Amino acid sequence: MRVGIVGLGAMGQHMARNLHRAGLLAALWNRTADKARALASELNVSAAPTLAELAAASEAVVSCVSADADVLEVTHALAPALARGSLVLDCSTVGAETARQAARLLEPRGVEFLDCPVSGGVEGARDATLAIMVGGTAAGFERAQPILQALGRTITLFGPTGSGQAAKATNQIMCAGIIEAIAEAMAFASAQGLPLDKLIDTLGKGAGSSWYFVHRAPNMARGAYPAGFRVRLHAKDLGICRDMAARFGVALPLVERMLGEYAELVARGYGDEDISATYRLKAELFERTNIMSAPPRDKA
Ligand code: NAP
Repeated sequence: MRVGIVGLGAMGQHMARNLHRAGLLAALWNRTADKARALASELNVSAAPTLAELAAASEAVVSCVSADADVLEVTHALAPALARGSLVLDCSTVGAETARQAARLLEPRGVEFLDCPVSGGVEGARDATLAIMVGGTAAGFERAQPILQALGRTITLFGPTGSGQAAKATNQIMCAGIIEAIAEAMAFASAQGLPLDKLIDTLGKGAGSSWYFVHRAPNMARGAYPAGFRVRLHAKDLGICRDMAARFGVALPLVERMLGEYAELVARGYGDEDISATYRLKAELFERTNIMSAPPRDKA
């Protein structure tokens, strides 16, 4: 199967390499063309000049772009050039309704759309160990197996189009709670004067551990938050969760609180940092307390 990939960001560039390793990658395209040219020359594959040319060269297209409007824009541009019987696998995290819209755009052309959002971070994309949550038909899921297996390890069909995105939204709510708990706990530990590296080693093997604790608490200990999962992208995902819950008349307290914290981080210019930057806000809680509880200055 000849596969094209669209979107060579933090996730997509690794996915492209894994498709190449599996012998599937025929062409790649990125909005910022320099990134596409660099990866094309590294992998010795073609950088398609346009999305239409990428579609024409592919029997299946994997997309991994930022947000809802981007998925629809890319799908619109691919649609006229895709052959009947081809597949589009969108690995971006977007709303379930956007997935259904994209599927409706492609259906009259005989092209099947699968929503395939992923979990596992940049490391999971690099190591091809992603969890992939799929929405679509059983037949489409079957045909997509070689591609999905090149990208991930836990691959599950949840139901019709949009179900993959609903499963992913569930995951994003969990990530919000976990990253907040870790940031708050690490700020507390730091204020107690604990050696943070030792703490991560020990608690990383305990009942309160998680992927995020093991992989992102070290960012907090170092005070550096290099782009892994950007704050603005998780804020985007929680906006999706907010909209999906609102359809039931529900406002989820955790989602609302994290959206507030992320808005603060974005306003201060930290939107492109990893979500472990939440620690910045939690550490400040203790800095403020220290100022308030500092002994009064000797006036003599
Ligand atoms: P990223 O590093 O910001 O990359 C975004 C990619 O999308 C770039 O290649 C960008 O092109 C492209 N793009 C954005 N808008 C576009 C448009 N309108 N048309 C064409 N291309 C467009 O993001 P990422 O971390 O790879 O994440 C991609 C998706 O995966 C997001 O939906 C995110 O929520 C999801 N995700 C991310 C992680 C993670 O840990 N990073 C984990 C799971 C899921 P340019 O190079 O031109 O900007």
